[in-house]
Amino acid sequence: MFATLSDRLTATFRSLRGKGRLSEADVDATIREIRRALLDADVAVPVVRQFTGAIRERALGAEVSQALNPGQQVVKIVNEELIAVLGGETRRLQFAKNPPTVVLLAGLQGAGKTTLAGKLARWLREQGHTPLLVACDLQRPNAVTQLKVVGERAGVPVFAPHPGAQGEADDTADPVPVARAGVEFAREKQHDIVIVDTAGRLGVDEVLMKQAADIRDATRPDEILFVLDAMIGQDAVTTAQAFQEGVGFTGVVLTKLDGDARGGAALSVRGVTGKPVMFASTGEKLEDFEPFHPDRMASRILD
Ligand code: GDP
Repeated sequence: MFATLSDRLTATFRSLRGKGRLSEADVDATIREIRRALLDADVAVPVVRQFTGAIRERALGAEVSQALNPGQQVVKIVNEELIAVLGGETRRLQFAKNPPTVVLLAGLQGAGKTTLAGKLARWLREQGHTPLLVACDLQRPNAVTQLKVVGERAGVPVFAPHPGAQGEADDTADPVPVARAGVEFAREKQHDIVIVDTAGRLGVDEVLMKQAADIRDATRPDEILFVLDAMIGQDAVTTAQAFQEGVGFTGVVLTKLDGDARGGAALSVRGVTGKPVMFASTGEKLEDFEPFHPDRMASRILD
């Protein structure tokens, strides 16, 4: 992940080494290299524009430091702007004043929602919470069974529709009453957090959006997490926008950050949607999961 972007930025900074002072031409040449590296990494054009504009302005501005040479100064500015583009601070989960807190997961099929449901449940349980997983993906064959397996591994119970629906694709099954009953069950059994897994499709479609929106209206979630596969490159932005319009979300989870994605999704999604990346999924195992820290991600890119 980010390997090419990292190498290109490092090479760009190397060319500034030893310069006593940066002319406007030096800054512009540097900005051009940064712009190309970002575009080649599939970062969305408006984000690239905003990002390079901010760097140019600051690099030409009066930020003269005695401690740093001009090259180091540019690295520092790029680092700070990367942190900003990644969202600044780590955004934590918001818990409901009156439990249970409801967390709805939405995203395309294969994005890693079901896996993420287990990871999030395990992580919350380790912090002393008592989560409940609710199986509302009634479209994909085996999704309910998969969630049960994941729940067992996470040590977290799973609320699922009637046994007959287990492991069967059923286009007629309505997940809305299941979601509603799941939240009610959590309230009765004093689970403080409900994580609702929803169905995804291979592409964005209206039926999917409507169904997720109906589940949203029935459960009034405190958080809606849009689960985004970091490997899907430029499609990430259009997918995120479609989900933002169709369902809306409060935060993003980036999955498959262990892969060799060029990084465009990670760097674009906050700028394009205005919503923070909250968690990162970095592998197939339940422990491959962590809160997303913009500063650590920026350091990785500039490493
Ligand atoms: P869903 O259709 O959105 O529920 O997606 P799944 O949770 O079933 O995940 C789809 C595939 O991606 C599965 O094979 C998962 O093991 C895999 N997967 C999920 N998250 C990650 C991740 O962070 N890294 C990697 N390498 N694979 C992942």
